[in-house]
Amino acid sequence: MIPVPFAVVAKRRDTTDTWTLELEAEAGDGLAFEPGQFTMLSRGGAGEVPISISGDPDEPSRLVHTVRAVGLATRAICAAERGDVLGVRGPFGNAWPVDAAEGADVVVVCGGIGLAPLRPAILTLLARRERYGRVLLLYGGRSPTQLLYPGELDAWAARGLEDAVTVDSAGPEWLGHVGVVPRLIRRAAFDANSAVALVCGPEVMMRFAAAALAERGVPAVRTYASMERNMQCGIGLCGHCQLGPTLICRDGPVYRWDALAPWLAIREL
Ligand SMILES: Cc1cc2nc3c(=O)[nH]c(=O)nc-3n(C[C@H](O)[C@H](O)[C@H](O)COP(=O)(O)OP(=O)(O)OC[C@H]3O[C@@H](n4cnc5c(N)ncnc54)[C@H](O)[C@@H]3O)c2cc1C
Repeated sequence: MIPVPFAVVAKRRDTTDTWTLELEAEAGDGLAFEPGQFTMLSRGGAGEVPISISGDPDEPSRLVHTVRAVGLATRAICAAERGDVLGVRGPFGNAWPVDAAEGADVVVVCGGIGLAPLRPAILTLLARRERYGRVLLLYGGRSPTQLLYPGELDAWAARGLEDAVTVDSAGPEWLGHVGVVPRLIRRAAFDANSAVALVCGPEVMMRFAAAALAERGVPAVRTYASMERNMQCGIGLCGHCQLGPTLICRDGPVYRWDALAPWLAIREL
């Protein structure tokens, strides 16, 4: 439960309200983690919040977080500069099923900041590229300037990622898709008989994505989604992140869609 001090060693502004911070432990080693896990991150007295690790699992000495400033804690974290110290607990939670997906096509579907929790999975898939069939990234943002890691998409494509990006709205300079992410699923080329889908984004987007994947023949048992709820302890004690009979911090954040769908069907659960 005791936060470990990590210093900000690099900071990049991704969009108008989102920053990527690279942290190093003040003492000792970095933080080994699996793709999909999160930490409880804090800065001073501004509160502690769950934030997914967006870095490379093969480079655990550097802890990377991509944070959208939406409230007290996240605004304080995003305002941290090089040399400032943040508190880190974790890593917590389970992982994307990158091992179980070996041999299959992998369809990564995300919206907005949902690419951050999936970035470690993408980096892992590309590091072991020969073990998978097609690896697709279907990514949607509100506008071209709200897309995360734009410079990295080309590098990922060069390593064998097939990507399709869509935005809700754009000016004439945008030559890509306009529309919602589930539309990309309808057109994407993958083998639905074996494909594994990893989905992260706003809940409504994940529901439509799971439905579009099911229409394409990817069943709920091969569709995984990462869930967000208010979270306080991160270790299954406080109960704030309860979802049905599960606690997201302990049993998630990654769930198989067949386990998730019945609970998401209950309003405001
Ligand atoms: C497992 C997990 C991983 C997450 N990963 C990331 C990440 O990588 N990057 C990132 O920027 N955010 C992530 N979040 C969301 C982040 O934890 C919240 O944005 C944060 O808790 C808001 O705290 P705050 O004090 O800044 O804002 P608050 O003042 O608490 O809230 C400000 C606004 O954000 C909304 N909000 C608060 N908590 C959440 C939440 N958990 N999900 C959705 N909306 C929320 C509130 O309803 C309110 O409208 C993750 C959440 C979980 C549970």
